[in-house]
Amino acid sequence: MPEGPETHALADRLSLLLVDETLTRVRFVDPKLQRRRAVLEGKRVLAVEARGKALLTAVEGGCTLYTHSHLFGFWRFADEADALPDGAPPRLLLVTVRGAAALYAAPSISLWRTDTLDTQPYLARLGPDVLDPAVDARILLAQMRIPRFAKRTLAMLLLEQDFAAGMGNYLRSEVLFQARLSPYRILQDLTTGERRRLANALLDVPRRAYRAKHDDVLPPGKDYLARTRARFGFEVFERAGAPCPRGDGTVAEIRLAGRRLYWCPGCQH
Ligand SMILES: [Zn+2]
Repeated sequence: MPEGPETHALADRLSLLLVDETLTRVRFVDPKLQRRRAVLEGKRVLAVEARGKALLTAVEGGCTLYTHSHLFGFWRFADEADALPDGAPPRLLLVTVRGAAALYAAPSISLWRTDTLDTQPYLARLGPDVLDPAVDARILLAQMRIPRFAKRTLAMLLLEQDFAAGMGNYLRSEVLFQARLSPYRILQDLTTGERRRLANALLDVPRRAYRAKHDDVLPPGKDYLARTRARFGFEVFERAGAPCPRGDGTVAEIRLAGRRLYWCPGCQH
C-alpha cells in the first residue's frame, strides 16, 4: 500500500494536472457516482491534498472528491484520455486541458460536501499527519500521552492511523531504527528522551522519503547536490541479514502486527 510519502507525492502530481483547471470530463464506473458527476464536471479544481493515505480533490461549488487507494488502487496519467492503457476501464477518470488522470483497481471513491468532509469515516479518525508541515514534535508528544495508546507496542502503534496518519510498513521499520527503539517496547515505558527521539524520527523519516519521491519526478537542476543528500535509502527495511549501518549487529526480519518488520537488536533497545 502506498504510504504517506507516496500519497503526498501523488497529490503533487495530480495538482500539476488539475489545480486551477476546469474538469472537462469526469467518468465513474459506479453508476451512482456517475449520475452525480455534474458536481465535478465543468467545475474548476481548487486544490488536491493528501491526508493520511487519502487524496482530496476540492472543486468550486463546494464539493470534494475523496479517494483512497487501499492495497490495490493505483493512478495512471496521460496527455489525453485516449492515451491511457487499454483494458479494464478506470474506476475514475478526470480530464483537464493539461491531461488525464485515471484511478484503477479497487479504491474507495466518494463525493462529499466540502463543509462536511470531516465527518467522512476515514478522515474523522485520522491522527496528525506526519507529512503535514504544521505537525511538530510537540503535537506528536501530546499524541503519546493519549491513554488509549499507552499499552501499545511500538510495532503496533506505528501502523495506527489515529496515532500518526501517513505511517506505514516501511516507515515503521525505518522510524524505529532511526529512534534506536525496539519494536517490542511499550509506549508507556518510554523515557522522556526516548519519546523525543521517537517524535523526531516520526517527523524526519517520512519527510525525507517524501523529498526523495519528489526528486524522482523532477528533472535534475543546479541544486543537484542538495537533492542527492535528500535522496532516501532504506537503512534496515528489506535488508535482513545485512550488517547494521551502525556496525553493531545484523538486521533481522520479524513479523509483528501481521506485517514484516526489520530491525537491529544491536542498537534498538
Ligand atoms: Zn545496529
